[in-house]
Amino acid sequence: MSQILTINEQIRPAVELIKYSNHTIALTGAGISTASGIPDFRGSGSGLWGEVDPFEVASIYAFRRRPQDFYKWIHPIAKFIVEAEPNAAHLALAQLETKGQLQAIITQNVDMLHNKAGSKSVYEVHGHLRSVTCLRCYLIYPSDKYLDSFILTGNMPYCESCGGILKPDVILIGEQLPVDVLIEARQLSRECEVMLIAGSSLEIAPVCELPRVAIESGARLIIVNNEPTQIDHLADVVIRADVVDALPELNSNLFMASSEAI
Ligand code: ZN
Repeated sequence: MSQILTINEQIRPAVELIKYSNHTIALTGAGISTASGIPDFRGSGSGLWGEVDPFEVASIYAFRRRPQDFYKWIHPIAKFIVEAEPNAAHLALAQLETKGQLQAIITQNVDMLHNKAGSKSVYEVHGHLRSVTCLRCYLIYPSDKYLDSFILTGNMPYCESCGGILKPDVILIGEQLPVDVLIEARQLSRECEVMLIAGSSLEIAPVCELPRVAIESGARLIIVNNEPTQIDHLADVVIRADVVDALPELNSNLFMASSEAI
């Protein structure tokens, strides 16, 4: 049935939910950044993995064994991420926050595009590229100076203090997610009245559990995604559209509706 509805018709019930919510949070995944040129790390056909087994390069075990393979694999991707600009969907969420209609974003993305778009309250459950950590002495460095040189040369960064290898503060396969961020994400999910899920296929634990936490606490769920997700049946509103079309449209409907109300 949803195929015959226009984006606008699909959006209308979402606008109503957000308009009357006192606490709305967004949960975003790779789908919100693909329009910014960041490939979906887990999407089939992204070409990212090629012949490479993700467990062989992007796991913490592989990193500790052969960091050079990880850095070789991540080299072309790092350039994409550093040069990427936020798209209309990131900007729409930042605008929602500025207007007081969005309290926080929980994201699976490590690309920092929500921050670049101007969002302030962002919980990055899979880490980020702002800093790197020495795996030997655990010193943490801002990644700026290493990133430029890495993108230029492809050479691995080393700790200035002990010579150990530096690892970007993104969560690799087999690594524990940042506990403090996860605790806050769960708390937000419990407290929210509306959870807006945008561009996440909700396949990866523990993030995929957050919508259930929200529902169990009485929240309403809005899902904006090109593809079906495994919890579409639990959502109050499912908008089957690209986030870069749907989110700005949602905002213009919402703010039009608010100005009419005033
Ligand atoms: Zn060190």
